[in-house]
Amino acid sequence: MQWLLDLDGVVWRMDTPIDGSVEAVNRLLAQGHDVRFVTNNSSLSRSQYVAKLGRMGVEAQRDQILTSAMAAATLVKPGDRVLAIGELGLVEELEAVGADLVVPRSLEDVVGIDSVVLGWYRKFSYIDMSNACVAILSGARFVATNADPTYPLERLVVPGTGALVASVVTATSVSPTVAGKPEDPMVGLLRPLLEEHTIMVGDRLSTDGRFAARLGVEFGLVSSGIQEAHDHEIPVSLAAHSLAEIVNMRLV
Ligand SMILES: [Mg+2]
Repeated sequence: MQWLLDLDGVVWRMDTPIDGSVEAVNRLLAQGHDVRFVTNNSSLSRSQYVAKLGRMGVEAQRDQILTSAMAAATLVKPGDRVLAIGELGLVEELEAVGADLVVPRSLEDVVGIDSVVLGWYRKFSYIDMSNACVAILSGARFVATNADPTYPLERLVVPGTGALVASVVTATSVSPTVAGKPEDPMVGLLRPLLEEHTIMVGDRLSTDGRFAARLGVEFGLVSSGIQEAHDHEIPVSLAAHSLAEIVNMRLV
């Protein structure tokens, strides 16, 4: 069976594994299941995700990691002049497709560039916001890695990429093309990898649940991360407190 696992709020909260998740993932891997980690968090690079999983005791390969930064990079062509506002994970994926990353020293430098790609950026400033808005109002395409409004820390919840995106939307009245779950670019990344029996496990109905529905796979909802209001339009195959519970329900 194939397991598509969200990371934040499913495998871990920030730097702390969620109870039983490491053992659950290792159980799936030991039994030969095809496990893929599908995250809207563009901050870490694929190598950093492999290392983070490794520190927690999960031996993952680079090709098991799918991020919203990878999905965003599919929207960029080699040689495109791109303003990347994000962390290493975003920068690496854009460089990998041959984007020409603009490092603006003044607002003039972003006029006429091809695209702005905005991801989760914990140093996001007024200057970044201004660069994005000036570029977009001068014709650059606006791409957001994801639109998650919040991010689950260990005990508290902080603003996610969607909150940064909202500031740019407010100033430009331009809506972005969103790359991550549940949108087309991420669907396009996953489709060729899908197996016959697949379940997506996630904490967000609006991203993970909709994504599963769009892929036509089962959805396992966990309450170990962000808890959203119920939406009867989004099918839930299994609901549980944690990934460990979902795995227990499926592997008898
Ligand atoms: Mg999540």
